[in-house]
Amino acid sequence: MKALVYHGAKKVSVDKVADPKLEKLTDVIIKLTTTNICGSDLHMYEGRTDVEKGKILGHENLGQVVEVGKAVDTVKKGDKVVLPFNIGCGFCANCERGLFGYCLTCADSSVMPGMAGAAYGFAAMGPYSGGQAQYLRVPYADFNCLQLPEDADEKERDYVMLSDIFPTGWHATRLACLEPGQSILIYGAGPVGLMAAMSARIQGASQIFVVDGEEDRLALAKQIGATTFDTKNADITGQIRELTNGAGADCGAECIGYQCTNNKGKEVPNLVMNSLVDAVKATGTIGVVGVFIPQDPGANDKLAKKGQIAFDLGKFWFKGQRMGTGQCNVKAYNRRLRDLIHYGKADPSIIISHELPLEEAPAAYEHFDQRDEGWTKVILHPNAA
Ligand code: ZN
Ligand code: ZN
Repeated sequence: MKALVYHGAKKVSVDKVADPKLEKLTDVIIKLTTTNICGSDLHMYEGRTDVEKGKILGHENLGQVVEVGKAVDTVKKGDKVVLPFNIGCGFCANCERGLFGYCLTCADSSVMPGMAGAAYGFAAMGPYSGGQAQYLRVPYADFNCLQLPEDADEKERDYVMLSDIFPTGWHATRLACLEPGQSILIYGAGPVGLMAAMSARIQGASQIFVVDGEEDRLALAKQIGATTFDTKNADITGQIRELTNGAGADCGAECIGYQCTNNKGKEVPNLVMNSLVDAVKATGTIGVVGVFIPQDPGANDKLAKKGQIAFDLGKFWFKGQRMGTGQCNVKAYNRRLRDLIHYGKADPSIIISHELPLEEAPAAYEHFDQRDEGWTKVILHPNAA
């Protein structure tokens, strides 16, 4: 089959590789019809993780089941399914508690003592191949496949967002403990930040503030119903206080991660976290879904190399704020978010800017990585005729 393979920093190509096979009786194989390029793929693309060369990337996957292991009960050949980016077993101590992003069975514990969690085509998340390919092996298929209703083809561009960014955006608002009628400050108008804004709107936020430095992204945030702030604007925190009777936003969401940059394009890893502590009200909660990693040897900052930032803990403590962190437990939300799409209450596909065949993925990585104007979200069709 054809697949997008990582060969080193900024080197990816579409190669001929072996087809995946059923390895356990609980597996299925799917034929990908849509797979996305994600902002977190760019950390790997830029060589800012320890992902191994030869890895097939791609963790936002949707396709049709073509082979079914003998122990799979509910998933049938021909089903159209969307897969959470995280791979869970469904029966370990963490999966039992709904923390599917921290599965103990599927994790690769050689990465870090106490490591939990697995994902397709991702650094430090187990030996699983990604889905930017024609076919993909899905472990524990009964647990990991979410079947799609009869409008699966018609709304495929929406449903594929259930693999990661829509649940992750939703997760940001839940980690932030957003209540109906409250305001939320979202840092980052990339795909996840935009999905956080859409999730906040659906949950009845009174004001949605979105901060980013790219005009095309801010325009989408505005379309979703947010009040937008360009980072080139000097006193964003001051303006947010003005709009919230001096208090600050009720809660905050970090949707950028460790590679956040200042106005001059310089990476300042603590910039967003400390801005949130400043602009969220005393007692407010901050949800952090942007990726932070335990080691970042490629960082230009001494602390960041060790995965550390200079965090305003004093202000955070004094304001009695709280914080929720980590990757989204996609299965905690994806079934209900699927139904929001099915019944016309959510349309995450509005952020898609490019639909391309797999062959064009390397060029798409380059454009997306450069933050080229208009490249907000790329989806690929690996088996397009
Ligand atoms: Zn993703
Ligand atoms: Zn598990």
